Amino acid sequence: MNSQATQAEVIVIGGGPAGSTAANLLAKAGVSVLLLEKETFPRFHIGESLLPCGLPIYERLGVDLRTQHLHKRGAEFIDEASGESAVYDFADALPGGSGYAYQVDRSAFDNELLQAAKRAGARVQEAECVTACLMDAQAVTVHTERGQYGARYVIDATGQDAMFCKDHRTREPLQGFGKAAVFCHFEGLSPEATQELFETGNIKVLMLDQGWSWLIPLRRGALSVGLVSRKAPIRTELLDELIASSPTIQRLTRGAAQRTSPRIISNFSYRNTRPYGARWVCIGDAGCFLDPVFSSGVSLAVLGGERMADLLVPALAQAREAEAALMEPLYTQMTRAYESVGALIHSFYNTRIVHNLFFVPKPDPALRSGLISLLAGDVWRDDNSFQNMLLQSKRRTSGLGFQTES
Ligand SMILES: Cc1cc2nc3c(=O)[nH]c(=O)nc-3n(C[C@H](O)[C@H](O)[C@H](O)COP(=O)(O)OP(=O)(O)OC[C@H]3O[C@@H](n4cnc5c(N)ncnc54)[C@H](O)[C@@H]3O)c2cc1C
Repeated sequence: MNSQATQAEVIVIGGGPAGSTAANLLAKAGVSVLLLEKETFPRFHIGESLLPCGLPIYERLGVDLRTQHLHKRGAEFIDEASGESAVYDFADALPGGSGYAYQVDRSAFDNELLQAAKRAGARVQEAECVTACLMDAQAVTVHTERGQYGARYVIDATGQDAMFCKDHRTREPLQGFGKAAVFCHFEGLSPEATQELFETGNIKVLMLDQGWSWLIPLRRGALSVGLVSRKAPIRTELLDELIASSPTIQRLTRGAAQRTSPRIISNFSYRNTRPYGARWVCIGDAGCFLDPVFSSGVSLAVLGGERMADLLVPALAQAREAEAALMEPLYTQMTRAYESVGALIHSFYNTRIVHNLFFVPKPDPALRSGLISLLAGDVWRDDNSFQNMLLQSKRRTSGLGFQTES
């Protein structure tokens, strides 16, 4: 490879939802983009439940989720110990949101986003792992196992690998959130279970002493089952015990053809204290990741990718991409999102918010629809009194602010 000839205006590292969104929108705006992805797609990824807030972005990217993925009306919280449960629909949120979302098979979904980025004009190189990245006031140089590339700007979208976070030693674990997850899939569900699950497409969240569990139906007739614990390390036996003891899981997986081997992910709740600087930015999980109890990860990753691209396009046109504070507005917006969802997660674990706002017979309608708006990822409106109250609360999770380069 002639590395000298390989130039792009922007290099995106990582082809997950954040990176593909960024590459797509930059390429559509006429920017030359090179996306480097270490895996070959389609590849497995966990994180299958989307929120309504991302839907306008998929449309903008040219990705149609209707035929391949499962329509999701909302969610159901279940406390099997007390026998309490409650369903909410995104359609009951404050006016203005999309009112529904999708459950997605991530290998297919991520591949659709990556292909859409290619169609938009981004050059995508898979099976090419970035090993180092040098940024200075003049330019960026990205090194991979195969060569080196020059660019005006670089975007770290490496997900939980959080490349720049590790290089800069700016990874800060978030206390009090989930620490580890163990999960598997049940393939070939019975027709009765499939019919029940597909009727709403809802995610079911089981509330447990040590954390919570997700049950996510997928269009291929599978059920994703996972357990998130606030204690690490986690044992695979914990998932076996949950599956054996949960009446809901037993009922839905009866007669399933196959259960896949368990996988474990640990230490996923953290923030990057320095997520942008001169000629670089981190987006998606490379910037921050919260406990996945409210399924916010993918949606915040694509929202961040979109807003970043909308800032970078005019900056490149005006040769302002070396400004260290260029991405400050992005992180002002993202901090509101992370703080709102973070405060919700804190309340989930510490103040029985689900019991108080969903399990009671007649919840306050304004608070309930405000809460549902937040659960839909609609976090940037200023008329949500529930969100305003949550953010003002002294009990809220603090410390999700971000710093720029000094
Ligand atoms: C247990 C668990 C459950 C979850 N459940 C949900 C859910 O239900 N709903 C939801 O919305 N979110 C969920 N998430 C979160 C969601 O999966 C992530 O937030 C989302 O994938 C973030 O997208 P991303 O593009 O930032 O990162 P990723 O999707 O992880 O993509 C990063 C990409 O970068 C590539 N890469 C990494 N390093 C390099 C390198 N050096 N060179 C080149 N390429 C590289 C990787 O191969 C990968 O393809 C969950 C997360 C966990 C841990």
